[in-house]
Amino acid sequence: MTQNKIIIIEDNLLNLELATNLLEANGFVVASAQTAEEGLRLAHELLPDLVLMDISLPGMDGLSATKLLKGDPATRQLIVVGLTANAMKGDEEIALKAGCDGYLTKPIDTRTFVATVKAFIAAANRHSTKSNP
Ligand code: MN
Repeated sequence: MTQNKIIIIEDNLLNLELATNLLEANGFVVASAQTAEEGLRLAHELLPDLVLMDISLPGMDGLSATKLLKGDPATRQLIVVGLTANAMKGDEEIALKAGCDGYLTKPIDTRTFVATVKAFIAAANRHSTKSNP
């Protein structure tokens, strides 16, 4: 069975550690970056099943990084899920407009996080099966 690869781009180390631990405990292979620039490099190198993209990052923000991933033929098929702060109303819509396939609000809900990530991957796989039979 192939393991799902996930890249987490998140500058908050507590969130990064929590998300990494939850995913690794459930059999995912996780790579991480604390800046968009490093995350983009990893995405090109690893072509993961899903990218968790913090929207608020130092330097290049997550929205610009998502636009770059979705505008590049080498990476546009990657699933990008935005991580938005709960308090920031309207961030979700902005994340989707930038090209995110979905979003998760922070703080991370440890009870539902892994199931939600799996659902995003399953939904994207159904889509690609449909469009490329
Ligand atoms: Mn951040």
